[in-house]
Amino acid sequence: MSIYNCPHCGEKSFNPWTKANAGQLNSPGKVCQKCGRRAVNGKAATIFNMVFSIICFALIVVVYLNAPKTAGTPYSWIDTFEIEINIGLILLKFLVPRLANAFFFKLEPAIIKNT
Ligand SMILES: [Zn+2]
Repeated sequence: MSIYNCPHCGEKSFNPWTKANAGQLNSPGKVCQKCGRRAVNGKAATIFNMVFSIICFALIVVVYLNAPKTAGTPYSWIDTFEIEINIGLILLKFLVPRLANAFFFKLEPAIIKNT
């Protein structure tokens, strides 16, 4: 079984793009092209996304608090590029979990009902 197989019908009906957009357990998921039922990235993906988001947020806070202190040290680039670093971290927070979803983790049946 590949990670692109539907958890309902077992058909390989997902690809990296549709899988990246299926979201995690807390999202409505993506409809399987074969059986019409919805699938999401499972527990491992959800935990990874949470942990990664927390790390990114922590880094943003650390950069915010410490950037001014780096002036005059070899790390003064942190102060100079503080905004760029934070934008980069925010981008990573959105991109990395999607990439991870696209290429890792198994699909699981969606639990949230589409309303
Ligand atoms: Zn299916």
